[in-house]
Amino acid sequence: MNYNCYIPTRVLFGAGSLNELHAQKMPGKKAMIVISNGKSTRANGSLARTEEQLRMAGVETVIFDKVGANPLKSTVEEGGRFAKEQGCDFVVALGGGSVMDAAKIMAMYALQPGDLWDYAEGITGKGQPLVHPTLPVITITTTAGTGSEVDPWGVITNPETNEKIDCGGQDSLFPLVAIVDPELMLSIPPKFTAYQGFDALFHSTEGYISGVNNLMSDMVELAAIENIGAYLERAVKDGSDLEAREHVAFANTMSGYSMDVGVCTSEHAMEHAMSAYHQDLPHGAGLIMISKEYYTYFVEKHVCDDRFIRMAKALGKEDAKDPMDFVDALVELQEACGVADLKMSDYGIQREEFLTLAQNARAISGGSYSSDRVQMTDEECVAIFEKSYR
Ligand SMILES: [Zn+2]
Repeated sequence: MNYNCYIPTRVLFGAGSLNELHAQKMPGKKAMIVISNGKSTRANGSLARTEEQLRMAGVETVIFDKVGANPLKSTVEEGGRFAKEQGCDFVVALGGGSVMDAAKIMAMYALQPGDLWDYAEGITGKGQPLVHPTLPVITITTTAGTGSEVDPWGVITNPETNEKIDCGGQDSLFPLVAIVDPELMLSIPPKFTAYQGFDALFHSTEGYISGVNNLMSDMVELAAIENIGAYLERAVKDGSDLEAREHVAFANTMSGYSMDVGVCTSEHAMEHAMSAYHQDLPHGAGLIMISKEYYTYFVEKHVCDDRFIRMAKALGKEDAKDPMDFVDALVELQEACGVADLKMSDYGIQREEFLTLAQNARAISGGSYSSDRVQMTDEECVAIFEKSYR
């Protein structure tokens, strides 16, 4: 039950909180704003509002707008070099998990010599300590999925080595300020609302059934599961439902805290392998595809029956008595959100790859496997992929 809690990020939570950005103490005079390579932050006005807030705070800005889904090593290196060339004092991430992850690692890399992988772990990273300080980071999350606004990590993909790994983690990469403004999430399409919401859910369900629980992780994880269970379907069905968006956003930030005081398990490792090889696959969609069989595996091992029953109740099955009630509740929520029939084959995944994916997941994210309450073999991992395949 011991835990070590250090979450130094000031969180401004709630509708309209982006309007408070200008009143925060700024860590410098010039910022690089990182956005995605899509149109949304320009089209919906959130970029202009962010620029205006920073201008009111006396901060000059430049924009880096090349981050795609599953951000690449090369993009992060380019952004880091751009921040340095432009003399930026800090980095402002305006976007979803990919943008925030990329921006944090750009802030880590900006002043360092050499290659990003000199400072990465994984199989081929050199894992060297940083030579220079990291740049401060402010996060403005436009999605409710990764909880990345309150942690110091960034998941980065190196397509040359098929590695999708956690980079960063330094205390200095905790964002100084995180803005979680559900008004910025009103225009997310239903499909992505669901993918992101399930990602937030799985950060917490994995943590809750992991072998690394504590009173603090249990608290934030159950809060996340309850809020997703009660509000995700509403947010998917009516994106303009601000109350639902608020609760899903709160669940997302709680799941971010879960990452700070708890862990993810092998489900995340398995998905990272899937999207390392298939970069068009959204992270949340990949997790949804394997989730039913993944949780069934652990239910059948009877690793923590009481915790599955507690999670089923948190998802809304108040009369839950059986650990499989959690899997039933999970599938019902996926059906209600229109994501129960996602197909791996739609993203080019083939059955022949499963052993490669299982081996890649374990080689790159062995730590997530060691958080599991029973140790899954590669054959068992392949079986989960097989049963999930459509
Ligand atoms: Zn995730």
